[in-house]
Parts: sequence; C-alpha cells; structure tokens
Amino acid sequence: MIINHGVRGSLPISGPFSFKYGGSTPCVEILTKNVQIIFDCGSGFSKVNIDDTKPTIILLSHFHHDHLQGLPFNPTLYSSKEPILVACAHKSKLETKEIIKQSFSPPFFPFDLLNLTNNVKIVEFKDISSEFKSYNLSSFSLIHPGESSGYSLNDQNKKFCYLLDNEFNKTQKNNLIKFCENSDIIIWDGMFTENELKTKKGWGHSSIEQGLKFAEDLDLKKLIISHHAPDRTDDQIEKISAKYKNSNLIFAQENKEISFYGKT
Ligand SMILES: [Zn+2]
Ligand SMILES: [Zn+2]
Repeated sequence: MIINHGVRGSLPISGPFSFKYGGSTPCVEILTKNVQIIFDCGSGFSKVNIDDTKPTIILLSHFHHDHLQGLPFNPTLYSSKEPILVACAHKSKLETKEIIKQSFSPPFFPFDLLNLTNNVKIVEFKDISSEFKSYNLSSFSLIHPGESSGYSLNDQNKKFCYLLDNEFNKTQKNNLIKFCENSDIIIWDGMFTENELKTKKGWGHSSIEQGLKFAEDLDLKKLIISHHAPDRTDDQIEKISAKYKNSNLIFAQENKEISFYGKT
C-alpha cells in the first residue's frame, strides 16, 4: 500500500480550492511486510503513524524546506520503540546529521530536535540498502538546484520509483529509463504544465506532459503526478486529468491509498 500524505510542492497551502487534492508538502509512505518506508518529510509527514512494530526507514530526496519541514511535527517520532533510520543518498550521514541539526535547532527551531529523538538514527543510504537487501533499494541522482535523489524500491516483484524533485531533460532520459525499467508505479514531479515550463527553466522541476511521455516510453502501468504547484487548484487538476483521459495517470491526492502489492 502506498499513501500520499503530502502532494504539494514548495509551500503548504490550505483553502477550499485545494480540499480534494490537499495542501501538505511531500511525504509518501509504503507499508511493506517488515518495514515502513517513508519518502520525504514535508508537512504531510506530521500525519504519518510511525509503525511501532517494525523499523521505519526515512529516505530524503533533498533538504529543501518543502521536503523536510514536517520532520519535528510528527508526535509518533518521539514515542517509537523501533529504530527510525534516516538517510539521503547524495549526502553522507555526517552531512545529513549536520543539515538536520542546523535546520531544527535555534535560531531556526525552538530546540535541538536530534537530542529529543532517541530512536532516530541518521545513517548512510548504502548501509540501509545493504541491511534491507531484499527490498532492493536504489538511488538516482536527479537534476535539481542543490541536488536531489530519486529512489526505487523492489519488493515482491513490484517496483516503485520516487522522482521528486527533478528537472527532466534529454541528457538524463536514457539513464532514468534504465533506472525505472519494469516499474509498476512512478511518482513524478509534475509541478508545471508544458506551457508553464517554458518560463521556469532552471527551477528544478518537470512537467506533467513530460511525465506522460516518459510513462509511454517506459510502458508504465501507473504514473502518479505529484508536487502540485502551490497555486494549482482542484479544478485545474481535474481539467488536466480530463484532458488526457488516461487510466494510467493519477494525480496524487492526499491521504488516498494506492494499491502496490495487489493489482495496479
Ligand atoms: Zn520540492
Ligand atoms: Zn527542491
């Protein structure tokens, strides 16, 4: 099961125009048999129930505010009895620790978060991938200002890819296709439409249309567009969705579960 806890890019929003798709920033949870895996800690992370019966792995794509700001606001983070492993593929554990420490200690935050979370362990991504070998966790270096890591997870012959934030381009295409080969589900950075992208070069995001083309090239079963622009209304999303009438295309909706192990 895949749960989108946060689907909005850049900034958490609220209001009647975003009731349906939601306004929390990125966080995706996958519940596997033996481990709970969380991709990013945007404000949506505050709603994740950390599973107290199995280890939790948190994989951070990068450290922009919209992907990290929810980390201290999950009450279950402080009470978990099982280890919570945190890693970012393009940073060492020391770098990751330092960034989290700086982000969540004075003057940016009231207290030093890492001093209050006994079970949170910041580790190397390669150590997680070798410890949880059966899940076949891999990473891919995405195109984004200040870097971003995409991830793939293989479990029980199902493959999931998480590709936020990324400015897709031709130089990346072949390697990204290889990385995503045989995927069942991909979460794609669809912050912009193709038209909007023309004036947003270098912002580090892709378009919905690029996602559709990529999915077509890959013969993908399910493309989930996420990281919706903060000013993208529910109505606009519905209109774009209706335009493509593609049953393989889903616009990420907060708190909605997507089947991963069953039929996709
Ligand atoms: Zn972002
Ligand atoms: Zn970013």
